[in-house]
Amino acid sequence: MSATALQEALTKLRDAGVRMTPQRHAILTYLLETMSHPTVDEIYKSLEGKFPNMSIATVYNNLRTFKEAGLVRELTYGDNSSRFDANMLEHYHAVCVKCGSVEDFHYPSLYEVEEQAAISTGFQIETHRMEVYGICSCCQIKN
Ligand code: ZN
Ligand code: MN
Repeated sequence: MSATALQEALTKLRDAGVRMTPQRHAILTYLLETMSHPTVDEIYKSLEGKFPNMSIATVYNNLRTFKEAGLVRELTYGDNSSRFDANMLEHYHAVCVKCGSVEDFHYPSLYEVEEQAAISTGFQIETHRMEVYGICSCCQIKN
């Protein structure tokens, strides 16, 4: 994580009138440092040693605040196992069907797909999400 990314995030929150707390700061820093697209549980487990009074609900509430401020995106998988990504630049994900890990990959943005979808459906397209599924390199070694 670059120091600027944290600084920018802190400025955004301050401008949105969000009060900073040590826990909020720790969750934000953790999200900006990790590349692993953690679940709420993973974030909670990695910080509970440092903040014994912190609850899962605190983590949830902070993630909602960050989401509203445009600092993280939530990747839902339809089974309550949302993952959180603080990389707001356009990118795509490869998801491991064995362990659930999520890795970033970059590819020119698929804006033609949005245009084609708009033409085909008459929708005013706002965004798109593309994921590829497979077996990650760790899981390949284990087998
Ligand atoms: Zn895997
Ligand atoms: Mn990502």
